Amino acid sequence: MFYGRRLGRKSARVEEGGRRYRAYTRRDIGRLPQFQGLSAHERAAMEAVAAVLPFRVNEYVVDELIDWSAIPEDPIFQLTFPQPQMLTPQQLGRMYRLVRSGASEQEITAAAREIQYALNPHPAGQLELNVPLLDGEPIPGVQHKYRETVLLFPAAGQTCHAYCTYCFRWPQFVGIEDLKFASREGDRWQRYLRAHREVRSVLLTGGDPMVMKASVLRRYVEPLLGPGLRHIAAIRIGSKSPAYWPYRFVSDPDADDILSLFEEVRRSGRHITVVAHYSHPRELETSIAQEAIRRIQDTGAVIRAQAPLVRHVNDSADIWARLWQRQVRLGVVPYYMFVERDTGPRGYFEVPLARALQIFNDAYRQVSGLGRTVRGPSMSATPGKILVTGVASLGGQKVFVLKFLQARDPSWVGRPFFAKFDARATWLDDLEPAVGDRFFFEAGLEQMIAERRAAHSSGLEEAFMA
Ligand SMILES: *Cc1c(COP(=O)(O)O)cnc(C)c1O
Ligand code: SF4
Repeated sequence: MFYGRRLGRKSARVEEGGRRYRAYTRRDIGRLPQFQGLSAHERAAMEAVAAVLPFRVNEYVVDELIDWSAIPEDPIFQLTFPQPQMLTPQQLGRMYRLVRSGASEQEITAAAREIQYALNPHPAGQLELNVPLLDGEPIPGVQHKYRETVLLFPAAGQTCHAYCTYCFRWPQFVGIEDLKFASREGDRWQRYLRAHREVRSVLLTGGDPMVMKASVLRRYVEPLLGPGLRHIAAIRIGSKSPAYWPYRFVSDPDADDILSLFEEVRRSGRHITVVAHYSHPRELETSIAQEAIRRIQDTGAVIRAQAPLVRHVNDSADIWARLWQRQVRLGVVPYYMFVERDTGPRGYFEVPLARALQIFNDAYRQVSGLGRTVRGPSMSATPGKILVTGVASLGGQKVFVLKFLQARDPSWVGRPFFAKFDARATWLDDLEPAVGDRFFFEAGLEQMIAERRAAHSSGLEEAFMA
């Protein structure tokens, strides 16, 4: 089968004829041939976890990325398949009994809800703090946390080609957030952007915007190229499809329409970046993944790469060094290494900040300057993106040296600050200031939060906090 209808683009031939996307979900766990070696008990345990946490994979991930001879330790298996230890033994036991006894969907969902609410589904009060107001009314589907960048959550892009077991957006995939972020149709977000000349870049995110048809994605991208929005210099699309479903850019029926859209952005005199989520070097190894990268790059778009550091998936310096080296080879720009957020089955995935720093540094030392475009480990917390830059001694006291890469108040960016060293700390909340009893930004942050809360009317605030 040949694709590449447009002249001037090298036709991509997909040797196996291109795959048709098909998702596997909880009900398929028992049927996957790869699982026939597992006992009924093991399969039911997986189904029990999948009833609580989002689960979705596809044939490509299952056939090409997972090494089935190495499960359960295989990193891509850990990345995508529910693991029993993600729940407490009590939670697991309860769900297991329901699944094994053939309980109704209603019973299963009700029990799952209770467990989901115990997993901190709304970390860091994201919702009402970041949603901007236009004429005093919030614009659902838009977040504006850092001055220069606005995030858009297209309504049709709130799912993914496969789900990561560690995803901090899990509440929306299990229906807790009920797509409150998702953009309503309409042009309020465009009016907001026209009125905010300080915005330099717009980031389409999700879920994964690349699950949308090209024609739907176009509804969000094209207006950004229109009149009154010259101040938008760059459009980013956050996506894991280059890893989970590279066919999106090669052989899906509208793959070429996607690439044409990227070219249009370039022709409009703007930059376009695909911020690709790559968790493990294996995701860059298949020929289809490399073909997708080449085709994106041929449009003039740049691919930048980011991922969280996650136990069981990529918690070694060797993995990150290989990941960045491979990215550099393929012309992909290493961008961020994140610290796993404080939500969901974090106990299973978290890596202490001190160890994260060590992994980052050990990997960073192994790459040339071309790979040192990466920043990390970085925590996306309520006040901003906080980089753990190092461990130092301050008047005899061992401290973490921290710095904002992005902040709600731009004046906080770049200013070093110090926290008492704690080998077990995994998140900002675990840290204490090395000097004084508050971090320098805390008073300012409290004031900003109070102002935002007052600005959002109480009725709407209730709706957001529901
Ligand atoms: C990371 C992030 C951005 C983009 O920050 P850059 O440093 O420009 O990549 C924008 N908004 C939010 C909420 C973010 O977390
Ligand atoms: S691809 Fe991104 S949004 Fe989707 S599950 Fe993974 S981390 Fe979450």
